[in-house]
Amino acid sequence: MRFPATLPIPEEVLEIARTLEQAGYEAWCVGGALRDALLGDPHSDYDLATSATPDEVQALFRRTAAVGLKYGTVGVLDRRRTMHEVTTFRRDVSTDGRHAVVAYGVALEDDLARRDFTINAIAYHPLRHEWRDPFGGAEDLERGVLRAVGDPAQRFREDYLRILRALRFAARFGLAIEPATWKAIRAATSGLTQLSAERVRDEWFKGTKTARSLPDLVGLWSSSGAAAIWLPELEPERLAALPSPPLLQPPARDPVIFTVLLCRDPVGVLRRLKASNAEIDRATALVAGPLSPVGADESAVRHWLAMVGKASEDLVTVATIRSGRLPDWAGTVRRVQERGDPLTRSDLAITGSDLVSLGVSGPRVGEILTRLLDQVLENPALNTRDALLTLARELV
Ligand code: ATP
Ligand code: MG
Repeated sequence: MRFPATLPIPEEVLEIARTLEQAGYEAWCVGGALRDALLGDPHSDYDLATSATPDEVQALFRRTAAVGLKYGTVGVLDRRRTMHEVTTFRRDVSTDGRHAVVAYGVALEDDLARRDFTINAIAYHPLRHEWRDPFGGAEDLERGVLRAVGDPAQRFREDYLRILRALRFAARFGLAIEPATWKAIRAATSGLTQLSAERVRDEWFKGTKTARSLPDLVGLWSSSGAAAIWLPELEPERLAALPSPPLLQPPARDPVIFTVLLCRDPVGVLRRLKASNAEIDRATALVAGPLSPVGADESAVRHWLAMVGKASEDLVTVATIRSGRLPDWAGTVRRVQERGDPLTRSDLAITGSDLVSLGVSGPRVGEILTRLLDQVLENPALNTRDALLTLARELV
């Protein structure tokens, strides 16, 4: 692959690089942004690697944030207070399957050597426009190969998260995992038990969001053995039942929805992965359903909305993905919601105390309100104080 002569590095990043270089340090752009730029997707989030130590970086810039000091990363804030990560060249002294103890005072090449995959181990000098690609990452990108830097077995033993990162990058960019790297992944999956649930969740969520091909991602999680350890409920055959693109395209994919679509017991899965309560609640509501209203008429849709509450939007999305098109009742849902039809007991034009004034007491109050709501769902025009009091008197 021929490297572009220059990359459009944002001025704010150039300024940070100039400050470092003028103070006598090296400053290189590194990491995912270069990979993405080589793939024709330049973005603004260029990380810098430098020979300056974290202390030296903090001394050079007025506004900094200690974002990852333990690993040598200082956040440098530009004039607009946007943060740019500046990380000291480092090598791993010891690793424990996830975290490394790092040492500074090494060269760019050492820093690139500790990175996970060749496509992520490329450097570009933003001022001199030089490239460094000691592991052939650009060629791997061109050939569509994901390859570990160095001895793959050792690299996965150092940090088992790299296994899940490999699956994610392969599915995101449509890369084939190089045979030795794949063999090492298969051999190392038992180490995945050492990862924290949160890291696994992040990878599964990012994976579902970014995969160019969801079947590839699901296939890789299954065939690598990662699913057997962390997602035994994953059922790849469920994907086959879904219509093909465009509805399965990133980045609009919602990880909670896809966990529900692809897994048995998605609520159990999300609990294991320590998803947020909001995410677990969404999955619970999606599973509870009902998946759709009994008809596309307004009354049926209002009754359904009253049952599913906030889950309606997710349920429309699920129905759309499953059938490959917007369901015929989705238009009614939008109309009813836009009009603000009453859908809950608290939307009623009377309250429990009105019923108490009519002599109702105890659980009957709730029962009558529910029956009134039923009638209002049939016919929202009934939702006036007078009409409801008349109806209530008949029910007392
Ligand atoms: P993304 O688009 O997902 O952010 P990225 O390549 O930028 O992709 P990051 O997690 O942001 O990924 O990490 C930035 C860089 O740091 C990577 O490109 C890689 O060089 C290095 N890196 C990150 N995590 C690891 C790891 N676990 N082991 C080795 N190197 C890593
Ligand atoms: Mg990144």
